[in-house]
Amino acid sequence: MKKGILFATIIALSSFDMTTAANFNYHVDRFADIEVLRYEVPGFDELSLNQKKLVYYLTEAALEGRDILFDQNGSNNLAIRQLLEKIYVNYKGDKNSKEFKAFEKYLKQVWFGNGIHHHYSTDKFVPEFSKAFFLGEVRKLKEKPEAVRTKAALDETVKTIFDPQYRAKRVNQAAGEDLIVTSANNLYEGVTQKEVEEYYASLKKPNDPRPISYGLNAKVVKKDGKVEEEVYCVGGLYSKAIKRIIYWLDKAASVAENDVQRRTIQKLIDYYISGNLKSFDDYSIMWVEDTKSRVDFINGFIESYGDPLGMTGAWESIVNFKNESASHRTEVLSSNAKWFEEHSPVDARFKKDEVKGVSAKVITACILAGDSYPATPIGINLPNANWIRAEHGSKSVTIENITDAYDKASHGNGFNEEFVLEQADRDLLDKYLFITDNLHTDLHECLGHGSGKLLPGVDPDALKEHGSTLEETRADLFALYYLADQKLVDLGLLDNPNAYKAEYYKYMLNGLMTQLMRIEPGKDIEEAHMRNRKLIAEWAMEHGKKDNVVELVKKDGKTYLKINDYAKLRGLFGELLSEIQRIKSEGDYDAGRELVEKYAVKVDQSLHQEILNRYSKLDIAPYKGFVNPVYKPVYDNAGNITDVKIDYTEGYVDQMLRYARDYSPLTK
Ligand code: ZN
Repeated sequence: MKKGILFATIIALSSFDMTTAANFNYHVDRFADIEVLRYEVPGFDELSLNQKKLVYYLTEAALEGRDILFDQNGSNNLAIRQLLEKIYVNYKGDKNSKEFKAFEKYLKQVWFGNGIHHHYSTDKFVPEFSKAFFLGEVRKLKEKPEAVRTKAALDETVKTIFDPQYRAKRVNQAAGEDLIVTSANNLYEGVTQKEVEEYYASLKKPNDPRPISYGLNAKVVKKDGKVEEEVYCVGGLYSKAIKRIIYWLDKAASVAENDVQRRTIQKLIDYYISGNLKSFDDYSIMWVEDTKSRVDFINGFIESYGDPLGMTGAWESIVNFKNESASHRTEVLSSNAKWFEEHSPVDARFKKDEVKGVSAKVITACILAGDSYPATPIGINLPNANWIRAEHGSKSVTIENITDAYDKASHGNGFNEEFVLEQADRDLLDKYLFITDNLHTDLHECLGHGSGKLLPGVDPDALKEHGSTLEETRADLFALYYLADQKLVDLGLLDNPNAYKAEYYKYMLNGLMTQLMRIEPGKDIEEAHMRNRKLIAEWAMEHGKKDNVVELVKKDGKTYLKINDYAKLRGLFGELLSEIQRIKSEGDYDAGRELVEKYAVKVDQSLHQEILNRYSKLDIAPYKGFVNPVYKPVYDNAGNITDVKIDYTEGYVDQMLRYARDYSPLTK
């Protein structure tokens, strides 16, 4: 239920003062299609000593899980990472040579992807250094790491790095193929999709109102011809890393802010020890009901995008604390959830009678780890188990120091000048995009996903492979529709009833044009969030044609967006929201599929090429991620922590090499 990285914030914004030291350097590294940034942790120094210790212990627990994700992403990722790092550190030749530069780029990509595949497209990275260079460097290593220790290991490593057909895609979603056999991730071994589906079908109890999240923390393998799970737990798979995580969680529990939080952390430890998914549900309920603690965290096997069957959770952790002043915004939205549900443009039959506690807050991230590092979401809505969400609510957060870093880093990158024709529109974006973009995320996460209901008997999975695209479409439309509502001004969340136009402009520009910069020439759009934005933008443009609501105009051979009637555009968003809600509530698969196929997938080739050309001149990375700050405890003579200092100076390569050195419990 994460909202993807909101790359739309790439649009340059001006002077939104967030009391940042003027000399804070957001830019860390740039390679391939990636820019690495750093983020600030404002307010950390004002936390109590106890809270600082809690944050410190939780960040250590977060870093200890890094190897798990590498291994989940591919069975030889850890060995390859270790080998590449050894070659990198050992290298004595010309560091400006083409071969070494290409090698360094590849290693940076592997670090960023937590393995040999791109974090977003999941396509395998293509090395630009030669096999001869690689083998030469391997020969120079005195001690041979696991990846090249035997002839068989070396052959496998060479094939993995250099054969483009081999382990080509981490997550294959192509209809009609065996998604498990054709995906290169390490969540299954020696089993077919059919075998896995039959295995879980045999475990699931029909009509269980509170089903556990089957497969969330296990690898499915075949042993002696029998399909079975290898569970991630103490004594099971990833035991060494899990023990390290528990060590730090235990320390965290000793300085918890209150009893509820202490018991929550202890329940998480129980779950890591037993691997019992019932314990994970118990933990999730305790976690979602802890709304009092200032410091909070995610730590575990959570999101299942890395599994083509959507079952196994990728390991991740985020440690954070509440941003009290900014949280006022989401608290206001949440406490008015009922008003929003009642006034939404959807059919009364599809509305919730009672809107259940969506707790929402704005947080400051202290560490990003596992599947949330270096690329990270800007908003999170958990837990994922539907029955827990229905009975106990969900926690929804916006990570504002991350959105702030995106925003600050984009200043002066030339994007607005290239893609926004009118000065008036640029001014609008400068003035209102930061606040309306954050509000859009708040509305999407706090209210959008939680709104509406299914008609009795409708299967929640009825929309099948289009389910996530349509769900994101629904949440985005809910947010877009309400951004333009006078209610937001009345609630004191916006000071100008026209502010919403900034987000409308950016959203349409992104959906119709600029998000195409992330797609390779000739390819269609696959990712759910990108499909959803395109669906909304294309549908609105087509349905507003007769009134000329939105148009694409040409000037000097370049295409620009023009919005002629913002009020009518809002009406169109409302209309589409009502239809998408109907599709979801009734489980109308055919109507959903038609919308996706007609508006969300196909790319206009000439427009695409134009965007790529214009974009390449700007040299803006399509993807961004972050290095973490370093937390350094200060000890007294008796060995007690008296303070925790935060340091922002570490670079990308240094951080990756340090993590490999200090947090590699699974590397052999
Ligand atoms: Zn979402």
